[in-house]
Amino acid sequence: MSKRTSSRFKCCLKCKMLLPSQANVCPNCKSSDFSFDWSGLVIVFDPEGSVIAKILNITKPGKYAIKCR
Ligand SMILES: [Zn+2]
Repeated sequence: MSKRTSSRFKCCLKCKMLLPSQANVCPNCKSSDFSFDWSGLVIVFDPEGSVIAKILNITKPGKYAIKCR
């Protein structure tokens, strides 16, 4: 059930952006709530033209997790 993905990145619990494990604050939403328990990597280059970005509520280009808990 739990497919462990790379722990070199952590996801922001608020906006799901993936950050290096040493990051202290999310550059996207300024949150400091992170989780290493994430799955599904999405790289968004063009949030306005991406269906996935709309579904996930992504407004800035970057790497995001689909699931983050
Ligand atoms: Zn964030």
